[in-house]
Amino acid sequence: MPVYTLPELPYDYSALAPVISPEIIELHHDKHHAAYVKGANDTLEQLAEAREKESWGSINGLEKNLAFHLSGHVLHSIYWHNMTGEGGGEPLAVDGVGELADAITESFGSFAGFKAQLTKAAATTQGSGWGVLAYEPLSGRLVVEQVYDHQGNVGQGSTPILVFDAWEHAFYLQYKNQKVDFIEAMWQVVNWQDVARRYAAAKSRTDVLLLAP
Ligand code: MN
Repeated sequence: MPVYTLPELPYDYSALAPVISPEIIELHHDKHHAAYVKGANDTLEQLAEAREKESWGSINGLEKNLAFHLSGHVLHSIYWHNMTGEGGGEPLAVDGVGELADAITESFGSFAGFKAQLTKAAATTQGSGWGVLAYEPLSGRLVVEQVYDHQGNVGQGSTPILVFDAWEHAFYLQYKNQKVDFIEAMWQVVNWQDVARRYAAAKSRTDVLLLAP
């Protein structure tokens, strides 16, 4: 079976400056994201060992570790592509993003309302977590989720398409305790074309959840 691997960054460490410093990007990708990849692989090995030995004393911890590390890997893999040095602005003004812009307006009433909700959700995360824009397939709507750690407080089946990392490691070297300043600055580097691609892909793979018995 394939194991998880750390994806390469789609840009140089300095590509998102001054919104995010090169030092943060390097540490965040090369150390933090890498640790989640290793954690997911290590946990899969430990689960294989548990099956082999029929030794289930650590099952609760192992399942939690798998959810944590795998979700960390998934969210960071999206995060890097959600950002670009040429990003920002409102999606309506970006080529090829009209369908996503319409969905945001339909789901949240306005872009301003959506932006305020995602900013607030990310900036007020208690402890470690994320603010996430996700496609929810049962309603066909977009929703904002405030994710605990990497894996908690999410709606099952929803697909994250725009993720704001609100862990301290994402901003502290540069923004210190001003998490809200960091989240507000993040809007300057959003890669709307990437978010729009993810929206289209999420919409097209929802049938499995909608299957009737
Ligand atoms: Mn992170």
